[in-house]
Amino acid sequence: MNFKMFNLDPRIESGITALGYTEPTPIQIQSIPSILQQRDFMGLAQTGTGKTAAFVLPILQRLMKGPQKHVRALIIAPTRELAEQIHEAVGQLGRFTKVKSVTVYGGVSKIPQIGKLRGGAQVVVACPGRLIDLMNQRVIDLSGLEVLVLDEADRMFDMGFLPDIREIMKRIPAERQTLLFGATMPDDIRDLAQEILRNPVTVQVGETAPVSTVSHYLYPVEPHLKTALLMKLLDRTDTESVLVFTRTKDRATRLARQMKKAGFPVAYLQGDLSQHQREAALTGFRNGKHQILVATDIAARGLDVSLISHVINYDMPDTVDAYTHRIGRTGRMARTGDAFTFVTRQDRAFVWAIEKVIGEKIERRMLEGFDYNVPAPTGTGGFDRMRRPASHRSPPRPRKSLQHCWL
Ligand code: AMP
Repeated sequence: MNFKMFNLDPRIESGITALGYTEPTPIQIQSIPSILQQRDFMGLAQTGTGKTAAFVLPILQRLMKGPQKHVRALIIAPTRELAEQIHEAVGQLGRFTKVKSVTVYGGVSKIPQIGKLRGGAQVVVACPGRLIDLMNQRVIDLSGLEVLVLDEADRMFDMGFLPDIREIMKRIPAERQTLLFGATMPDDIRDLAQEILRNPVTVQVGETAPVSTVSHYLYPVEPHLKTALLMKLLDRTDTESVLVFTRTKDRATRLARQMKKAGFPVAYLQGDLSQHQREAALTGFRNGKHQILVATDIAARGLDVSLISHVINYDMPDTVDAYTHRIGRTGRMARTGDAFTFVTRQDRAFVWAIEKVIGEKIERRMLEGFDYNVPAPTGTGGFDRMRRPASHRSPPRPRKSLQHCWL
């Protein structure tokens, strides 16, 4: 089963490929054909099932033809985070199309949102309150609307948005396609569905495993031993595909080159690559030619490879959010995954911060048989070496168990 079965425009297929999706998820298989036929639709599916792409892909297909100058699809979501995620999905899946999307939500200035709306967008992803506000100010024209999506309708109801939804419904064209998604369908939502959906196709998909299928481990290590530890760890671990994160573009390139020299099937992804190089790296990673991808956070943004079995933080991320985001790349789509993080002394405070946020102590591990006592090289060229002049460096002290002495 692959995405070809939907006969989507090749530019949309390229967007799907660039994101690393190889096969549609159950909700996508069951919903995309009906939504493409412009049927109304009710989907019972949680976040994590791939429901966003299930409605974004057919919407993109529809919007590629026809007028480009006005709002044709409105997606309503309960929170700005969800609105941003959907907006990002439209941008990523539609990156090779001309379809533009804007977000509209409260808590931030209206001015940039109004500016973007005036700039012309076919998709608006909105939270109800600010949307009504902008409709009242007449800065948003929904008279040409063709598709309405209510995402996480049950949550919108819990948050008291139902009156707002009804209000919006009165002010948009009755002749439209309507899609409604929710993880649960309480009676009030069913009543609403009855009112607003016309002969809908209804699909329910089972729960998928949460991101907690990921196991986290910390590997305390001196900076100059990270590369050796990584190689040894990869030799010893049964992995499918591995995403390795470095802090900078330069480090991603250098690490990948060192690994390649040592015989690892590796590619790298960083912001300075051309689109062509980037795609070659991604395709090689996806089809298994390169089992390992070394990347920076920014380059890996939007990379959703459902087969990733291991995420290795060669360098600690800068923020706790970045940590959970990186780790979220494994364990997706009901698979299990492992996340290894290399920790140096400078990272200690950050480890405690992460543990506080995720509410659990992360297991410390040491790789058996790995020599943790190899001193930092004194010559030039060791790229993880502390940048201190050799004369100021104290001689290496042998350590029995690193993890107990400083982490
Ligand atoms: P959602 O349920 O829409 O929040 O999607 C959950 C995650 O699955 C998102 O990170 C998507 O990018 C990803 N995803 C969606 N469809 C697919 C697919 N067909 N293959 C792999 N990942 C996917």
